[in-house]
Amino acid sequence: MKQLLDGFGRVHTNLRISVTDVCNLRCIYCMPEDMVFIPDTSLMTYDEIIHFTRIFIGLGVNKLRITGGEPLVRPGVPHLIKQLGQFDELNDISLTTNGIGLITQAEALYEAGLRRINVSLDTLNEEKFEQMTRRKVLSRVLKGLKTAHECGFNPIKVNAVAMRGFTDDEIVDLATFARENNYQLRFIEFMPLDADDIWGRNMFIPGKEIIDRINNVYPLEQMHLNGDAISDTAQRYRFADNGNEVGVIPSVSEPFCDNCNRIRLTADGKFRTCLFSITEIDLLTPLRQGADDVVIENLIIDAVAKKEAGHKINAADFVKPERNMSRIGG
Ligand code: SAM
Ligand code: SF4
Repeated sequence: MKQLLDGFGRVHTNLRISVTDVCNLRCIYCMPEDMVFIPDTSLMTYDEIIHFTRIFIGLGVNKLRITGGEPLVRPGVPHLIKQLGQFDELNDISLTTNGIGLITQAEALYEAGLRRINVSLDTLNEEKFEQMTRRKVLSRVLKGLKTAHECGFNPIKVNAVAMRGFTDDEIVDLATFARENNYQLRFIEFMPLDADDIWGRNMFIPGKEIIDRINNVYPLEQMHLNGDAISDTAQRYRFADNGNEVGVIPSVSEPFCDNCNRIRLTADGKFRTCLFSITEIDLLTPLRQGADDVVIENLIIDAVAKKEAGHKINAADFVKPERNMSRIGG
């Protein structure tokens, strides 16, 4: 069987596909207020996404996440999920969303077969939410989460980017919120993928500090991972008293590149082997020009073979990618 092996012995089975770079929020760590979006004609159609998915599955991909931009601003995502569900080889399909669209779409997504979602929520404070996202819609996100919970989604993961000077004092509040609602909380370290160049070493809160702060209030037990979970980017813990999970994704302070099994396809059909890749491979143009699947397979295989050893955020020669997070697909 074909597989996506790189020069460091890592096999890639985990694909993220962005369906749009458009978003109804403007998180300060992600995109600017006046973002210029990819023209519709350059976006992969759903048929093209299915076509690429089939190719990636033939190369060993078995885990897929739909993301964006905000995926739920693009009409028809439930239908796409249903089509993706027909691939028996995919044993895990999930979606990352800012939650706003869940009020109206959670049910359709569930009916389409989706069971796992990640909802991004950095603060429970309306004013801070507006500062972080430049929009006043916290209540809609909370309502979206509640709707998803009522539909039966399980697990629901809540992703939070903790930023020094903004949400330091929200860490324990978010942990309380997640515990009480049975959501799995994941703190992501702020990475230099923002569009406004606000990232600085003084702005991210290291995962260890986040865990210490929670542990001081709610004692935690570290989970020991094996098998597939080794390539999980999160360091996972359980609340000692109720078993619910909480984790941190310490991409900056403790990079996990050695175990990375992830690859990405942007909404305009560019293949990326790392969030921080400074080169990318255009797959959509050859597909539209009628290239044979074998040609596209070989483009993917060659790109993975040349995958970078790891990101260089902590190195002197770090180069920030041209694309910000919303254009890559987080
Ligand atoms: N719009 C959806 C959302 O916010 O969940 C999906 C796309 S968003 C780019 C995916 C994830 O990337 C979100 O959890 C978001 O918080 C995270 N993210 C965006 N910019 C980031 C950055 N500079 N550092 C760390 N995480 C970031
Ligand atoms: Fe939109 Fe998600 Fe980026 Fe926030 S993090 S601006 S919700 S794409």
